[in-house]
Amino acid sequence: MAGFLFFLFFIKQCDMRVLVAICFFFFQISFARQNIVSAQDKDTLAGEYGRLITPGNLKKQLYTLASSEMEGRETATPGQEKAAAYIASQFAQMGLAPGANGKWLQHYPLYSDSLLHASITVNQQSYKWGRDFWVDIRAGKNQQLTANSVVYVSDGTEMDYLDQEVKGKVVMMKEASLRNREGSDLNSRITFAAARGASALLIISPQASRYSSLGEAKLRTSGIYQKNASSKELNIYYITPTIAIQILQLGKKDNLSDQKQAKEVTIPIHLTFEKRTTELHPSNVLGLLEGTDKKDEYVFVTAHYDHLGKNGRTIYFGADDDASGTSAVIEIAAAFAQAKKEGKGPRRSIVFMTVSGEEKGLLGSSYYTSNPIYPLSQTVTDLNIDMIGRIDPAHEKDSNYVYIIGDNRLSSELRTINEAANNEYTHLQLDYKYNDPEDPEAFYYRSDHYMFAQHGIPIIFYFNGTHADYHQPSDTPDKINYQLLSRRAQLVFYTAWKIANRDERLAVDGM
Ligand SMILES: [Zn+2]
Repeated sequence: MAGFLFFLFFIKQCDMRVLVAICFFFFQISFARQNIVSAQDKDTLAGEYGRLITPGNLKKQLYTLASSEMEGRETATPGQEKAAAYIASQFAQMGLAPGANGKWLQHYPLYSDSLLHASITVNQQSYKWGRDFWVDIRAGKNQQLTANSVVYVSDGTEMDYLDQEVKGKVVMMKEASLRNREGSDLNSRITFAAARGASALLIISPQASRYSSLGEAKLRTSGIYQKNASSKELNIYYITPTIAIQILQLGKKDNLSDQKQAKEVTIPIHLTFEKRTTELHPSNVLGLLEGTDKKDEYVFVTAHYDHLGKNGRTIYFGADDDASGTSAVIEIAAAFAQAKKEGKGPRRSIVFMTVSGEEKGLLGSSYYTSNPIYPLSQTVTDLNIDMIGRIDPAHEKDSNYVYIIGDNRLSSELRTINEAANNEYTHLQLDYKYNDPEDPEAFYYRSDHYMFAQHGIPIIFYFNGTHADYHQPSDTPDKINYQLLSRRAQLVFYTAWKIANRDERLAVDGM
């Protein structure tokens, strides 16, 4: 107690102003010391709570999420809704707060189109949808179009339009452009036709009839998509060469591939297209664990709970992809919630978010980061878990590993913290192979963390690599290595613990 006696001795000899200054000085020293001690305590505590993330608990979660009842959890299906309700109930049970403005679910709009009717009639000759032509359901608007001519633009490159006015007209072009490599990209040629004001586009496709093999049900729906202001608004009909030959009025000796000259052909043509658009409301699930003295800064721990659903009676269980990550998020949340109950909660707030729409193109995380519930400027990091229950072929002999992706791209501190957590507790081999920006698999762009990274938020993507069961019905819970799953989940927990409890906010100083 020398420090305290020294302090008493000192006050006798000082006037009041000095005393105040000294008091303040000592107060700061003792406060700082207390902080250091509590930080050390906290790291010892981390081990205590991290051990709550057990193989047994994870297994229970994973078997529920990847059960037949959840039907493969496809976005905007009853299976996905069941999974969302289950995750919310787990968050509620452990004492998290509803994280989406007082609710558990953040709903977002998606769209799906189904084709009701499409027809092409050329000079009284009717053609059949699904046999003679098919349509781009998503791009099309309802239309009833009667015209007296068709503008043929051959390859449909810019040059082909030089002498042709196509505004408000039906335009016809070849699907493959062989002449001009620069203009050969079909999408850019479609965009060009739309920009020139075509009212409909007929694309001559030798394979226009092949789609009939997909089956009526698949053909008649656009699939799920996000409304996008820049999406091309042009009706596109993929037609067989037979229709093109009639439109161009070619004789038996003429060859379609010889038709290189753009021209307007006079011929009566009637096109109809009718679809129904359904609005869907899938959700992200958010649970909040409020922090203490730094509660206005947020650490995100994420995984996607959606998967591919089912095809007929075949269920895509998605045990590894990504019931493994979702189970990990639930159990990590439970460990933090227990710490908080015992007065050892994190200084920063932690948001546990499981998103949907991932398999459809990161739609749930894209919606969240465009419509954030917590300010992105106050979001410190996103630790994203997508597939951590399996061993990839490259690690069959040495399976105590996890791939770490993206950790050093936006913050110089994140790798150090993650490695410290691993050295102290989990002792996994951290494999940075897929963090190489040149890696052809480009995994960095392929899961939800990327949506956060796009906003300059430092991220880590935890991943086990792909395997033979990836995106197959055979991705089942019995193939998960629960020991490994728990160790990898613990690594995320310890890293989150460090980030949430340190004095300084994680630096953002990368590219
Ligand atoms: Zn997937």
